[in-house]
Amino acid sequence: MAALMELAAIDAGTIETLRLRLCDERVAATEAIESSKRVMANLLDARRDAADDEHDPEGPTVGVQYAESSALLQNSRHHLDQVNAALGRMTSGTYGGCELCGTEIPLARLEARPFAAHCVRCAQVVGA
Ligand SMILES: [Zn+2]
Repeated sequence: MAALMELAAIDAGTIETLRLRLCDERVAATEAIESSKRVMANLLDARRDAADDEHDPEGPTVGVQYAESSALLQNSRHHLDQVNAALGRMTSGTYGGCELCGTEIPLARLEARPFAAHCVRCAQVVGA
């Protein structure tokens, strides 16, 4: 667990800036989820309307487009989870500490990835 002493290294103004960025990312991820859902619903409608769409020589098939949208949806949901978890860590006062080893996550890393939950070393281990 990260000690409060370590987390005091990030000043309140910086935390607030990162918090606003996380809120923006939460809005963007939520919109991306809704957008992917709409695309998938439209693709299902299109597939019902044109049963032979799979043989359309133009562009990717509905199945491929659906799979791509589904992957996008999963990515957006995963990102939203990360953003919400980071906002939760800000509320609980554990933001900025690595969830695995408890060391302080460098500010440069948090500025690049405000939702980062692990230090660089642990991120390589968990693949996050
Ligand atoms: Zn770590």
